[in-house]
Amino acid sequence: MSQDSTTPSTPEQITEKRDLHSLTRGELMELLAELGQPKFRAKQVEEWVWVKNAQSFDEMTNLPKSLREELAERVTLGGISELTRQVSVDGSRKYLLSLSDGASVECVGMPSRAKLSVCASTQAGCPMGCAFCATGAAGLTRSLTAAEIYEQVMHVRDDFNTRVTSVVLMGQGEPFLNYDATLAALRRLNSSEGAGIGARHLTVSTCGLIPQIMRFANEPEQFTLAVSLHSAVQRTRNILMPGVRKYSLINLYNAMGEYVNKTGRRPTYEYALISGVNDTESELQALCDFCEGTLAHVNLIQLNEVEGSKFRPSTDLRAEDFVRRLASVGIEATIRNSRGSDIDAACGQLRQRIAKQS
Ligand code: SAH
Ligand code: SF4
Repeated sequence: MSQDSTTPSTPEQITEKRDLHSLTRGELMELLAELGQPKFRAKQVEEWVWVKNAQSFDEMTNLPKSLREELAERVTLGGISELTRQVSVDGSRKYLLSLSDGASVECVGMPSRAKLSVCASTQAGCPMGCAFCATGAAGLTRSLTAAEIYEQVMHVRDDFNTRVTSVVLMGQGEPFLNYDATLAALRRLNSSEGAGIGARHLTVSTCGLIPQIMRFANEPEQFTLAVSLHSAVQRTRNILMPGVRKYSLINLYNAMGEYVNKTGRRPTYEYALISGVNDTESELQALCDFCEGTLAHVNLIQLNEVEGSKFRPSTDLRAEDFVRRLASVGIEATIRNSRGSDIDAACGQLRQRIAKQS
């Protein structure tokens, strides 16, 4: 049944209102033209949406009141709301955010001196099934839109009321299974008509999807790449990261060589130290062999213990052995201090706990 434009809105039509964040510049111009507005309004509206992160049309004080009301009738404004938060003794704040359809994601703000880093999610859940990861255990709910990735960062910015200096996409989800939205979010975070964060301070972390790594190498911006390695022994990596079995270590090694040749940028390998699993002598030797002669930097992380998992973190002494041995083959490694370890910092843990409570 077709409806003419004078038919009053039904409840279904009201729920189908589009979010202002999802409109392209062209669509916004069209909408404003329909409402009889001059062209410069588009820039004003975009500034409220992307730079000021307005939460209501009423905040848009340089727009006529009548326009604000018309916009409110035609479109919605963002769909993220905070469900709960945890605050760490180190100042980190972890948020559980609800999206417009009720799916939820986590993000974290980590302040240090004049800096504020944000860890954001790219999917609600994750289908990759890594054995040590709380997010992996729950499976995938859905991929996020570019705006939903972006809005997490702005939520943290506004909560700390300070500029965000870096973003890592290391929350829930595999960014390269949601490539286009991830790139669009990175571009908006980078843009002066967005968050204005330098490309080098925007990091994507992937479990190692090779076709997308190659695609990423060809993007014009200088975004930073981190690859979750966790073992340089194929058998162990297959157990820890069954979702990337088909991308063998040798192919990953070659792809990363090409990435470095193309971009000249230094990639990071993430390595969560798990006692007796990937911290043994032979694992350390394999890691040294994998990295030697490359530009890579290694980030060693003490495993965050996940409820119900048999995996335990290594000792601090063992982590220091890794740093020394990697240094002996010319590879710089850092032990990343686990921020907010008192607040379910491992990805997926807060969501898991809340799900259990409800
Ligand atoms: N899916 C992407 C990005 C999100 S996970 C990826 O896997 O890279 C972000 C980082 O947290 C990854 O390096 C991941 O391996 C790591 N991680 C997951 N669970 C962890 C845990 N329990 N302890 C320490 N690091 C963990
Ligand atoms: Fe997904 Fe990354 Fe967790 Fe693996 S470590 S299950 S890829 S979020």
